[in-house]
Amino acid sequence: MNYKDYYALLGVPKNAPEKDVKSAYRRLARKWHPDANPDNPKQAEEKFKEISEAYEVLGDPEKRKKYDALGMNWQQAAHQAEQQRRYRTQQHDTFNFDFGGAAPSGFSDFFDIFFSGVGRRQAAAHPPFAKRGQDLETTIELTLRDVYDGGKKSVSLQLEDVCPKCSGTGTDGGRLCAVCKGTGHQLVTKKFEVSIPKGIGEGQRIRLAGQGGSGTGGGTNGDLFLIVKLVDDETYKRKGDDLYVDLPVSLFDLVLGGEVKVPTMAGQVAMTIPEGTQNNRLLRLTGKGMPKVKGGGNGDQYVRLIGQLPTSLNEKEKKLFRELASLRNGKRS
Ligand SMILES: [Zn+2]
Repeated sequence: MNYKDYYALLGVPKNAPEKDVKSAYRRLARKWHPDANPDNPKQAEEKFKEISEAYEVLGDPEKRKKYDALGMNWQQAAHQAEQQRRYRTQQHDTFNFDFGGAAPSGFSDFFDIFFSGVGRRQAAAHPPFAKRGQDLETTIELTLRDVYDGGKKSVSLQLEDVCPKCSGTGTDGGRLCAVCKGTGHQLVTKKFEVSIPKGIGEGQRIRLAGQGGSGTGGGTNGDLFLIVKLVDDETYKRKGDDLYVDLPVSLFDLVLGGEVKVPTMAGQVAMTIPEGTQNNRLLRLTGKGMPKVKGGGNGDQYVRLIGQLPTSLNEKEKKLFRELASLRNGKRS
């Protein structure tokens, strides 16, 4: 990204009064208007865009103040702004959620990074007014156990908030804000005590009222929405309110029937395998699944029986299996 010398683009000195900036812009805009340059429309359009961008900044007292304050520190400030922009983009990709960041302006990267969405034209003319903070959204990673048990959990979350030093203006006493380097935003890590609703599912949201972006000018804070992301569990697969678990069982339990111990989220339970059960069969444990988030009991747990064939048979065992085989008249099933 290159530094944009907006004063040079408009051909005015740094201390030029507002009316000179305006007349310089008008003169250049007439000169480079694409309609006035039918012989080289491409170059004219390029020039016209550059001039418009320069005037968008220098013609707006708020933006001009911020531009003047950038000075020598502009690269450092750009770096920080770029990181925040990447953070915002990441959030967009994950949730397809609009953070309220301005859309690309069609101007240069330099403009987008420092001036799009900040310093609106009217901002300088009015005293600060009460503005509700923005709603924020971020992910919260939860284990199956967290969701099964529900209740309070302490979490640390990284959030983007309005810079507390400059209240989002990017400047402080006529200089570039030392805290946010002119971006008006800051990444902060905050601790929260979150109440996890029992049985909440992947992608569902938990709202923390008043924990979003800070309000300004006496406005209330926005809300913070936490989007649940479930960590894969080693034992259980979840489908809706039901849980699935694979259980290795012996050949003999399948053939002769038996009782086995099965892990459930509520502790081990005994389960009866009927005689002559086929391999891979699903057995259901009613009410041993996840709590239903809207209440009304639990889902079920399904247990898939995975038969384990005996290996490394000794001579006696082999003899018995051969006898079994011949008893079945050599049939394989
Ligand atoms: Zn700041």
